[in-house]
Amino acid sequence: MNDFNYLKRLFQAYYQEEQNNFPQVSSFNLREFGYIPWEKKVFMKRHLKFENPKELIADLIQNPPRHLYSSGSIYLEPDAREMESKNYQGCDLIIDIDVDHFYTPCKEKHDLWYCKECGTEGTGMPEKCPACKKSKFTKLNWVCDDCLDIAKNEIKKLVYNFLIPDFGINEKDMRIAFSGHRGYHLKVESEEIRKLNSDERREIVDYLTGDNISFDLLGLIERSTEIHGLLKGNFGWSQKIMNRVEEILQKPEKELEDILTDNNSFDLNHNVTESFLNYKDDFLELIRKGERNVWAIEGFGLTMWKKFLKEIVKQVGVELDEPVSIDIHRLIRYPSSLHGKTGFKVQELSLDDLKDFNPLDESNKKLDPIVFTSKKNLTQKLEITENLIPMTKIKGVEYGPYSKGEIINIPHHIAVFLLCKEVAKTI
Ligand SMILES: [Zn+2]
Ligand SMILES: [Zn+2]
Repeated sequence: MNDFNYLKRLFQAYYQEEQNNFPQVSSFNLREFGYIPWEKKVFMKRHLKFENPKELIADLIQNPPRHLYSSGSIYLEPDAREMESKNYQGCDLIIDIDVDHFYTPCKEKHDLWYCKECGTEGTGMPEKCPACKKSKFTKLNWVCDDCLDIAKNEIKKLVYNFLIPDFGINEKDMRIAFSGHRGYHLKVESEEIRKLNSDERREIVDYLTGDNISFDLLGLIERSTEIHGLLKGNFGWSQKIMNRVEEILQKPEKELEDILTDNNSFDLNHNVTESFLNYKDDFLELIRKGERNVWAIEGFGLTMWKKFLKEIVKQVGVELDEPVSIDIHRLIRYPSSLHGKTGFKVQELSLDDLKDFNPLDESNKKLDPIVFTSKKNLTQKLEITENLIPMTKIKGVEYGPYSKGEIINIPHHIAVFLLCKEVAKTI
């Protein structure tokens, strides 16, 4: 039996077991469904429709897909083959946070790339191959606690710094889920949001990310050689920026120096960093009093302040996958379905669940995305087929790194993960 048939059978058994408590998305029979099957040749089967969850689960058991999605939109005819004929009624706002789309320091350890052009290899997330400057890569992306923590923090920022205070969105209208791989998504379901067109969604995205922000409009101005800064008392972005500045200024001096000079962060040179550090206490005092708002650091002109504030905005804004939120015809992973590149479950979470949620080592059985843990501690024998695979830490235990040709004996859930990742085969 080939490994995909084996995985398909496992997925089938999972759907069979879950058939009585499989969740139901809202407006169920008005959603378009999509399958990515195990067969390599077929990309995605779209335009599927199910009358009720029972019908869906029966189909999942009959022919378990590698990935399962449903639309953010609702349509009167979700199964019409042309988008124009679906009779579109509105779309939830979907926000996708996935570390595939932004830099995390741990990628230097576990994301591998191979240049298709010149054969150079390395770790991390380069934009261009350092050797030939082309950007055609084969990549092997991995999961780790650090990047999942970063992704979770982005979701928290989104909810507590933006959706609740600035948009007045109710907790009951938010659906949050762990994606089953490297991120989270959040769906806002409300009548008002459903009516928004793509342009309006783009405006929301710009606000959430802080892209295209105008510091001039927020009050940053040079007046007779004095720089007047932003005020903490002004709601929205000014306040968010100044809160973050205040937070940063309170860091221990050494740590502050490190982030100011770090080229993945503020990237300031030695001299301006020094004058910034000298001014730090005065700056803090000035923000707290909020009276005379003149920012006077030696060597800091308008351009330097904008560079500094840009980095602050990057830290305050949400790292989201923009096209997902703007496109009203996107499909997103169905809650409680399995992610075919990990074997992990797409786990729905309340805001309360999210607090302590730890996807790779979750102690609450009901929320545990790793569903193939064997009760009898069975192990499986696999041969590694990929050149190099990074260390995997799941349920607090480390496996690997492994290299090609290595024969390993590992617990069932790790075997499922490596087979789904297509980096090993059963022998
Ligand atoms: Zn190259
Ligand atoms: Zn990581």
